[in-house]
Amino acid sequence: SDTIRSVCSGQVITSPYSIVKELIENALDAGASIIEIRLEENGLGKIEIRDNGCGIKEEDRPSVALPHFTSKLKNFSDLFLVNTYGFRGEAVSAICSIAKVAMITRHSSDSVAKSYMVRSDGVLSQTGTIHNNVGTTFIVTELFKNLPVRKKFYQGKKGKEQLNEIDHFIRGIAIANPSVRFMLRHNRQLVWQHASSRHLKDSMASVYGTVGDMIEINYSKEDSGVQVTGMLSTSGKSSKKPPFIVVNKRLVKFKALQKSFKKLYDNMFPSGAVCITLSPNLVDVNVEVDKSAVICRNEADLISIVEEIVGKQVLNTES
Ligand code: ADP
Ligand code: MG
Repeated sequence: SDTIRSVCSGQVITSPYSIVKELIENALDAGASIIEIRLEENGLGKIEIRDNGCGIKEEDRPSVALPHFTSKLKNFSDLFLVNTYGFRGEAVSAICSIAKVAMITRHSSDSVAKSYMVRSDGVLSQTGTIHNNVGTTFIVTELFKNLPVRKKFYQGKKGKEQLNEIDHFIRGIAIANPSVRFMLRHNRQLVWQHASSRHLKDSMASVYGTVGDMIEINYSKEDSGVQVTGMLSTSGKSSKKPPFIVVNKRLVKFKALQKSFKKLYDNMFPSGAVCITLSPNLVDVNVEVDKSAVICRNEADLISIVEEIVGKQVLNTES
């Protein structure tokens, strides 16, 4: 169908980071409020993502890892609503084709959890019954078992970069989902945890350790349908890492806005996050391979609003 064809372009799974990202997004789509991420050897040894979401119904399990299975997309126009992260049904099946995957799940209607091995073609075999809470766990080992060059690539220095990238992603997704508790462990050590909170400020403190050098932003303009909240440092911190940008509760890449931060902060990026709420008809998030690019109608207006707020509220300039 047209739906299938239009959403199946491109490779999603190319790195340990992309596996973690896809599995976390699935956990969020399942309504999880606690997501635990356990990695070994920078994700190359093991990636385990445990959530307390709704679990997977017994009748859906045989399809979960088949190419193009998704329980999320209802029809083509849903693609333009941004309520869920998933819609292509590609991730689980792609992960199974390059790694060994085990799955444990208990749906809210089940009395026990069941564990499965997932074959590389996506076919499941049950391996046991476990007394777990409602939710789903994916355990990914033997990553890139059939792609030795890729594996070698991530065994070196690139492995550590993957861990940093994963850590950074979790901090961003925690800011976008402040009520979700995230825990990241690496080689059994707790790296970081996000204490869930209803408030962005607490989330930010948990993400950054301290927000002492940041100023809170709070702006809303009824007639333009734009609301901007967040916290930003008053001076530039790094030329590499832009602040997190969240649009309508989604962590996004917003290149044009990142550029304007650099301009405002003398060629550096501030640390912190900016959370923008727009009426949905002003924004197209995703329809991109990694679903994180944002396209705003009247982007230039939005950018000048943000520039003005940051200038006045954070940097204390009149412009
Ligand atoms: P998509 O997210 O695009 O639907 P995926 O391949 O990522 O595709 O996942 C396939 C399907 O497996 C999802 O639509 C969902 O029904 C189910 N699923 C995957 N992970 C979880 C999870 N953590 N909790 C509940 N259901 C899940
Ligand atoms: Mg998905």
